[in-house]
Amino acid sequence: MRLLPALTFGTLLLPLAAHAAEPHSYAQPDQVQVTHLDLDLKLDFPHRELDGQATLKLDWKNPQAPSLVLDTRDLKIAKIEALGADGKTTPLNYVLAPRDKQLGSKLTIAAPTHPAQVRIVYVTSPDASGLQWLTPEQTADKKLPFMFSQSESIHARSWVPLQDSPAIRFTYTAHVSSPKDVRVVMSALNDANHPLNGNYTFDQPHPIPSYLLAIGAGDIAVKETGPRSAIYAEPSVVGKAAHEFEDTEKMIATTEQLYGPYRWGRYDILVLPASFPYGGMENPNMTFATPTVLVGDKSLVSLVAHELAHSWSGNLITAASWRDIWLNEGVTTYVQGRITEALYGKSQADEEALLDARALQKEIGKMPANSQKLAPDPRGINADDSLSDVAYSKGSWFLRTLEQRFGRAAFDDYLKGYFNHFAFQSITTEQMLDYMKPNLIDKYPGKMNLAEVKDWVYGTGIPKNAPLPDSPRFDKIDQERSAFLDGKLSADKLDAKGWNTQEWMYFLNRLPDVTPLAKIQQIDSAWHLTGTPNAEIGMRWYTHAIAAGDKAVWPAAADHMTRIGRLYLTLPLYQALATTPEGLTYAEKVYATAKPGYHPLTQQAVEAIFAKAHKIEN
Ligand SMILES: [Zn+2]
Repeated sequence: MRLLPALTFGTLLLPLAAHAAEPHSYAQPDQVQVTHLDLDLKLDFPHRELDGQATLKLDWKNPQAPSLVLDTRDLKIAKIEALGADGKTTPLNYVLAPRDKQLGSKLTIAAPTHPAQVRIVYVTSPDASGLQWLTPEQTADKKLPFMFSQSESIHARSWVPLQDSPAIRFTYTAHVSSPKDVRVVMSALNDANHPLNGNYTFDQPHPIPSYLLAIGAGDIAVKETGPRSAIYAEPSVVGKAAHEFEDTEKMIATTEQLYGPYRWGRYDILVLPASFPYGGMENPNMTFATPTVLVGDKSLVSLVAHELAHSWSGNLITAASWRDIWLNEGVTTYVQGRITEALYGKSQADEEALLDARALQKEIGKMPANSQKLAPDPRGINADDSLSDVAYSKGSWFLRTLEQRFGRAAFDDYLKGYFNHFAFQSITTEQMLDYMKPNLIDKYPGKMNLAEVKDWVYGTGIPKNAPLPDSPRFDKIDQERSAFLDGKLSADKLDAKGWNTQEWMYFLNRLPDVTPLAKIQQIDSAWHLTGTPNAEIGMRWYTHAIAAGDKAVWPAAADHMTRIGRLYLTLPLYQALATTPEGLTYAEKVYATAKPGYHPLTQQAVEAIFAKAHKIEN
């Protein structure tokens, strides 16, 4: 998933669930494990529901196990039955526990005879936390309704009853029926030439963790970008997206050269409406992506490099619990940098690494000590909060450090071996370290010792001597920014004509949190940032302008906030407005208009900002 840079939610304390190794799931994989899921679902747009059944194939581990325990959230369950080898069904008793705010409802199915398969007939809630239902008006083309899932971290349970833990991997098949003109895609092999007939079947033959279950449906056109890749998007978006992402096949080939074959068959991309709360989601075979990276100059396509890299780090080797999520995101961000370097040059890759590193340096000291660790104590964190920039930026910084110490050739060789060794498994940080010791640290003695490695993994802050890439272009921007702030250089004399997205991001990131209003107005009259179509620049610009007290930008900021539901591009504007009573009132007015188009996760996050602001007011 891509949610960065520099976005962390508040830290919530979680109750420990029954399965202590993964406190975010009620599943008991030591008793019984789901090995295959078969879904039969009907898309009901008017009621915003998925209606159907899930059949789970089971591998009973404990001969005395009395029951199968599953994760659910807000599911209405009609019936549960055991399926015999002869196809005969027997009803099963079950208890659906009261809903826990974080974890949902524990579903305990009495199954003392250990059936090979269990079938659950159910319907999802219109407010399912893992699904968003959009009216035609909320889409780009305004013709048909749209729906999509976002299962990571623990939202698969809101649309499928299952063992919702990254430690458990299963294969899946599905049949989905839809209105005839709606195309359905899933995180499985998709057929670009599938007729619009309202009937879709899917097969994911590789075992995946539940958070990679995904579905999308709407007015979706398809455009091939290579022999094994295509873009899926609304008709008005698909051409632009296919152009922006035309290097996808080159990215796949580059990653294969570095780390071995792409093992999933096709790699397609679904570009979602702008309400998608994240940058991208690495759903197997079908990356889900935000349209906010379609800026016309490929400057933000590292998002595709990131999601593609997950086909190795994350989808092939998965973190066994949310506490270990840096194994997914840190390794992926490192691999993303290598793909970017190979395709777009070292200076582009270095700029992106430096942006992440500087943002982390600024933020990490403000976080609770436990959250500063790559492998924190899991009891102190919420599953969605594990995806902080520590996992991404500190994780990738650690890998860049390893590369520098051991040399690129040796480290590439090691990482390729690591991907092969743990392919299609879910592992813990400790398993990774046990593998690293003989295969890297001891193999090349004198380069980096285990104590240094453990300081990166279990220590707080950023280790001393962590290497930073050089960027002469960023250095020049630093000099110009200082001269501008000191009054020695006027805004129109900034050498910004040729700045790419990252260079603007860097300039804006490093302005003071509250920049004098006059300086903000000078930048805007020279460079016309208000109204920019580039949402990365817009997010930073409006945040600064609001903080400086420039009310002239409010309407343009409101337009940005209403158009874009991606958390990281929208929340900072709400946060900036909420610091004054007048701004808070304005933000609440904007939200009233924007809310119907926001994903449940975005709604939750904005409402949390308002609640906090009102608490401070009182
Ligand atoms: Zn990611």
